[in-house]
Amino acid sequence: MADAFFDYVRAPDVARAQGFGADLCRAGISSQAVLQVGRCLVEFCQRHCPPDGFDDYLDQSQVFYQGVVKGYFRASESMILQEQERIRSALQQTLHRYTVQLEAAAEIARTTVSMLDLGLLLTTAVDRIAERFQLDYVAIYLVDDERAYAVLRAATGEEGRQRLARQLRLKLTGPSAVSRCILNQQVLIVNNVEGEKIKSAASWLPITRSEIAFPLASHDTVIGALSVQSSQAGVFSTQDIPGFQIMSDQLASAIENARLYAEAEHRAEDLAQAFEQLKEMEQLKDRFMENVSHELRTPLTMIKGYAELMLSGEAGPLDDEQRHALNIILRNSEALSELVIDILAMLEVRTKHKPLKAVSLVEVVRDSLASFQVLAFRKDVSLEADLVAASGQCQVIARADHLRRVIDNLLSNALKFTLAGGSVKLRLWQSERTAHLEIADTGIGVPLHLQARIFERFYQVDNSRRRLHGGAGLGLALVRELVESYGGSVRVNSLGQNQGSVFTVLLPCAEG
Ligand code: ADP
Repeated sequence: MADAFFDYVRAPDVARAQGFGADLCRAGISSQAVLQVGRCLVEFCQRHCPPDGFDDYLDQSQVFYQGVVKGYFRASESMILQEQERIRSALQQTLHRYTVQLEAAAEIARTTVSMLDLGLLLTTAVDRIAERFQLDYVAIYLVDDERAYAVLRAATGEEGRQRLARQLRLKLTGPSAVSRCILNQQVLIVNNVEGEKIKSAASWLPITRSEIAFPLASHDTVIGALSVQSSQAGVFSTQDIPGFQIMSDQLASAIENARLYAEAEHRAEDLAQAFEQLKEMEQLKDRFMENVSHELRTPLTMIKGYAELMLSGEAGPLDDEQRHALNIILRNSEALSELVIDILAMLEVRTKHKPLKAVSLVEVVRDSLASFQVLAFRKDVSLEADLVAASGQCQVIARADHLRRVIDNLLSNALKFTLAGGSVKLRLWQSERTAHLEIADTGIGVPLHLQARIFERFYQVDNSRRRLHGGAGLGLALVRELVESYGGSVRVNSLGQNQGSVFTVLLPCAEG
């Protein structure tokens, strides 16, 4: 065997040696093993060749060995290049697939995200997905309120239309890929429906050979599933998951948005309806109050008239007890008349004012002050006015009786809530085109947190003094409504309990 080898080595055929090396490479022999062969060759020569021919043999065998090595590495180089090419094209294909999927997902997300009509959103989504991914059937299921069924809400093609008409729904605990994907909150790939042990005929078309189902999740809750099907077996792989997953997530938020919008719209409708009813009730109430107030006016005038007549002694002499009782009747019927006037004025503010002319605010203030002097005197409260800065000015386009109501109510409150020995000061002046009316008292004051509330209808600061003084809580509401109806405003300033109050009314002055 050694001789045969030496004969062969003596006349080395380099081409054959290279072919041999290439065969070793293709057979998968490692480069380590090939290098080991080189070392074995030297040892073989040392051991078996005659001593005088050793160098020759060694040279020749080296030529042979170099040929083998060269062939081996050339072959391995070309194999590496081929492998690189294979990987590159596989990568390119995957990249292309991802790009197409992401582009489609972005396009579908763009189209659906702003859709607020749920039905339109779902139909558009299935049609676009089927078209962009060239699928045979796409369907969207949404979980029902009881979380018992996945209800078909949109599906492509004639087959889809028929299933929608049949109101197809799948039991969540059933065998379909859709149900399992919802229940397990996981993507499910069925790559050969024939080979499936658990059949899901209800959700497959007769032509369906493979399916991939994605859970639609919003805020950690699975609200439904997206099912895409193909008539070819084995078309879906895990590589399809990222693109479809992004799309499913976008779809889920678009569905949630559309649902929230529908809910908000529904609530808005309910609210609008309730508001209409309220408005109607408010009108009925106003009409009722107006009627009652008008009906009260005549009997009240009669009561007051007769009480005054009897108090004057014209109807016969009175003893002290009778006089006292008549005084009470007169005082209360006067208070009731005031209230009726307030109510009627309040209802009237809402109806359009008749054509108005400029009214001198100074004159209205003077009239009002004159009528309160007696009450102030009786209560031992000083009532002063500073009209110097305003004389000849402060013309306001308004109804005089409305302005009188504003001043009367503010003065009456100031006197009502100020104890004996206190004072009420009224100031009127004009700056630029605005009339300022300020009524300051040294009374019980208004707590800071209630200063906005006292202008609400029927609101009264809940303390014993209120009960002591009576009133219906309408005066300030009327003041505000009247003042605002003439483009003005009213506010109160008080440092709190027993610190007095300052009410300020601003009204636009007449031109010229
Ligand atoms: P009424 O005086 O009939 O109760 P108003 O609407 O005129 O109703 O006033 C509402 C409430 O605002 C009063 O009950 C009172 O608590 C408070 N208020 C009004 N004016 C004054 C004031 N000058 N000083 C202290 N509290 C006031």
